[in-house]
Amino acid sequence: MGRSAGARDGREWRNWAGTASATPARWCRPRSAGEIAAAVKDAAAAGLTLGSGHSFTAIAATDGVAVDLSQWTGIVAADTRTGLVTVRSGTTLRALNGALDGLGLAMANLGDIDAQTLAGALCTGTHGTGALLGGLATQVEGLELILADGSVVSCSGSARPDLFAAARIGLGALGVISTVTLRCVPSFMLTADERPMPVEQVLDEFDSLAAGNDHFEFYWFPYGRQALVKRNNRVPADAAPGPGAMPGWRRFWEFEVMENAGFGALCRVGRAAPRLIPALNRFSSAALSRRSYTEVSHRVFVTPRRVRFIESEYAVPRESLVGVLRELRRSVPRLADPVMFPVEVRVAAADDIWLSTAHARETAYIAIHQYSGLPYRAYFDLFESIVADVDGRPHWGKMHGLDADRLGRLYPRHQDFRRIRAEVDPGGRFANPYLTRVLGRP
Ligand SMILES: Cc1cc2nc3c(=O)[nH]c(=O)nc-3n(C[C@H](O)[C@H](O)[C@H](O)COP(=O)(O)OP(=O)(O)OC[C@H]3O[C@@H](n4cnc5c(N)ncnc54)[C@H](O)[C@@H]3O)c2cc1C
Repeated sequence: MGRSAGARDGREWRNWAGTASATPARWCRPRSAGEIAAAVKDAAAAGLTLGSGHSFTAIAATDGVAVDLSQWTGIVAADTRTGLVTVRSGTTLRALNGALDGLGLAMANLGDIDAQTLAGALCTGTHGTGALLGGLATQVEGLELILADGSVVSCSGSARPDLFAAARIGLGALGVISTVTLRCVPSFMLTADERPMPVEQVLDEFDSLAAGNDHFEFYWFPYGRQALVKRNNRVPADAAPGPGAMPGWRRFWEFEVMENAGFGALCRVGRAAPRLIPALNRFSSAALSRRSYTEVSHRVFVTPRRVRFIESEYAVPRESLVGVLRELRRSVPRLADPVMFPVEVRVAAADDIWLSTAHARETAYIAIHQYSGLPYRAYFDLFESIVADVDGRPHWGKMHGLDADRLGRLYPRHQDFRRIRAEVDPGGRFANPYLTRVLGRP
């Protein structure tokens, strides 16, 4: 998974999963806020702001102007006393985590990869897990944006608060984010405890597992009986020594050999002989093993993902999670095309960001995946019909089929978002077909 999943040769752009592509009329790689403003202002066609192409949807795809921010990176200012850090928007999470380490700071919560750009991750509502913690956008204190007319505006909880409520998860529809001010926390260590548990037990104990751990998640292979439960907890400064760091050779073995190379090989067998998939899936489930280690937070949150897949993820009210998963367990074995990849479950606290999937409700996330090249449509449709009954909200960067009408009923502030969009981008310079589907015509 490289810094740029999309091609940078001035021709075709393609996302990481290979599910979206575009041929931008023009590419630009600005090195300053002035150059970004000039690119936006001069763009005759609809603009396209690129992150790293890690969204599965076509949210970043248009045939207009590609604004590639790979030369617009790094920390602009940092106050280690308050934890406020201002970062250029094209910085990848990997580079950011490394730079924050050097300042003795960290992001309070992260998702499970770090190849995305900071702005790209924010724009789609990227999240990790933690019942008392929000997604990445809840860690934002201020934004600087370049609007469709080339003007530069700052927003925060006190300056243009409506724009701030919209732009923290702005889908790339409101303007180009030039810098992000984050509220970071002192760097911290996490102890990871990963172990297999019967999936029925995990569902029975779901509420206490979610409430009893700083960062709780589990993976379940659809034909298996075991789930892999991951509990990551902060290590208090005065804690007795616990499990140590994972030695380099073991990290390589577990993450690269077993989870990537080994699992990738199983997936290839499954793709060549789909009838074997349920058995391979049960094998993967039975082979889950226990491990525990302590590392600096971002090395625990983030794992390498080299096996390519397609993903859909929905946020559901936390109390609906168990019902949805039980329904999915009953239905998946009836699908004509078997499912190779596990289902991932995470949690987040309610927040007040207008288009946050956790807006105003305690949330559980269910992510379903299929190995690249295997049929996924019927599985994803089935999932979408199950989560529809509990008002599931799709991740903006992952596959879904909802439109502006339905999303308007799922998000109480959807109409407010559209109002802000009409104010800051009246001509639809940042529009693309995906945004028209989920937000309506500009
Ligand atoms: C292997 C893998 C693992 C993932 N894990 C997680 C996870 O743990 N949790 C989770 O929630 N999601 C996860 N995702 C989804 C991913 O975090 C999001 O799709 C994210 O948006 C990708 O960031 P990007 O930099 O690639 O942005 P892109 O996908 O390239 O773009 C996303 C949007 O951001 C806009 N954008 C980018 N930069 C700017 C800017 N400067 N100003 C304005 N708009 C901008 C683009 O125009 C587009 O609208 C994962 C995806 C993959 C492929």
